[in-house]
Amino acid sequence: MKNKIKAFLDIVKQRNGEEPEFLQAVEEVAETVIPYIVEHDIYYGKNILLRMVEPERAIMFRVCWVDDDGEIQVNRGYRIQMNSAIGPYKGGLRFHPTVNMSILKFLAFEQVFKNSLTTLPMGGGKGGSDFDPKGKSDNEIMRFCHAFMSELFRHIGSNTDIPAGDIGVGSREIGFLFGMYKKLRNEFTGVLTGKGISWGGSLIRPEATGYGNVYFAQKMLETKNESFKGKTVLVSGSGNVAQYAAEKVLQLGGKVLTLSDSSGYIYDEDGIDAEKLAFIMTLKNVKRGRISEYLERYPEAIFEKGKTPWGVKCDIALPCATQNELNEADAKLLISNGCICVSEGANMPSTKEAIAIFHKAKILFAPGKASNAGGVATSGLEMTQNSLRFNWTREEVDNKLKEIMSDIHKSCLKYGTDKDGYVDYVRGANIAGFVKVADAMLAQGIV
Ligand code: GLU
Repeated sequence: MKNKIKAFLDIVKQRNGEEPEFLQAVEEVAETVIPYIVEHDIYYGKNILLRMVEPERAIMFRVCWVDDDGEIQVNRGYRIQMNSAIGPYKGGLRFHPTVNMSILKFLAFEQVFKNSLTTLPMGGGKGGSDFDPKGKSDNEIMRFCHAFMSELFRHIGSNTDIPAGDIGVGSREIGFLFGMYKKLRNEFTGVLTGKGISWGGSLIRPEATGYGNVYFAQKMLETKNESFKGKTVLVSGSGNVAQYAAEKVLQLGGKVLTLSDSSGYIYDEDGIDAEKLAFIMTLKNVKRGRISEYLERYPEAIFEKGKTPWGVKCDIALPCATQNELNEADAKLLISNGCICVSEGANMPSTKEAIAIFHKAKILFAPGKASNAGGVATSGLEMTQNSLRFNWTREEVDNKLKEIMSDIHKSCLKYGTDKDGYVDYVRGANIAGFVKVADAMLAQGIV
């Protein structure tokens, strides 16, 4: 088996040698899915995984815009249309200086499996730009978004490819992107998700990734007769995912000790309660400030510059910042401090070595493609509401989200339960995600 996996990865490395994050994402899938393919005749010998690692289409384009000083700026825009076997391409846009082909291909590849797990008919895609929104004025953000959409519009559509937000792309950016798409096409459709409530958005979409992650962790904890009540929780990040993960943890009786951004983390021993969280939401979403400013209001907290929070003693960890933010040494610290559950809110926040440590210690560990699927699932629900030209209530959407997270958990148990009863959620998520897409690809022939 090892040879088969190596032979496959050698081909992928040869073609994508310069793309470390993409290779990391493919390796994790190959190690769990190839043994399954070998055991199942319908998939064996059909190069099905080799077809899945090749984007159906990868678009790269120039984005020119004028900044507030009148200078002409040039950025690079991308859209990776990875797989459309089970539905139109679906996945977010990321605006961050680290964005390149490797990052977007890893995200698009993960998205294919994630979207398949949601039970909804969505293929996988991802896009974005190396544009850095940090420190830009609202007008600069608008001009950039308009310039970006003036090319992207010809590649997307409500039945073709439906982008949404990711790091650096929130409701403000979706608004500007939607405005330009509507102007160029002269049609009002659900071509983007994460829209505002008054113009086609869904209730609960802003909360969905964070809430969904906590619902998933809750399902994992239930298998051990545990819950969030009275548990100490580390959350990393302070964007949309982290904020709503923290909110749901508080609602379920847990104590949130940390939040972070790229400058470092804050540790509040007394817990970040609802009032403190509201302060952070205003700080991050309205003032667009730094997490260290928390101390100006709550001086008893600690700010650790340039560090991640994983050394703080906790029961549960929710990495909600970005890829590879939790390494082997961090994983060892979490285990030695008694952490029983890690549920990823970000995409691929744990390195391969960190995951191996969690599995060895046999703690509950959920990969993002399962535990953060609530965001895109609720995007799927937004698409449904747009097609119906109808809006569901908050409660209706939240109940559907809970049901979807519970179904994803069941799929992970189905394919990930070891002989000794331990659940390998990585294997479970990868195989469950794979089967649905592979079956559709086989049915549609070699295209
Ligand atoms: N960017 C989010 C993700 O990683 C959401 C994508 C979407 O809603 O389409 O799943």
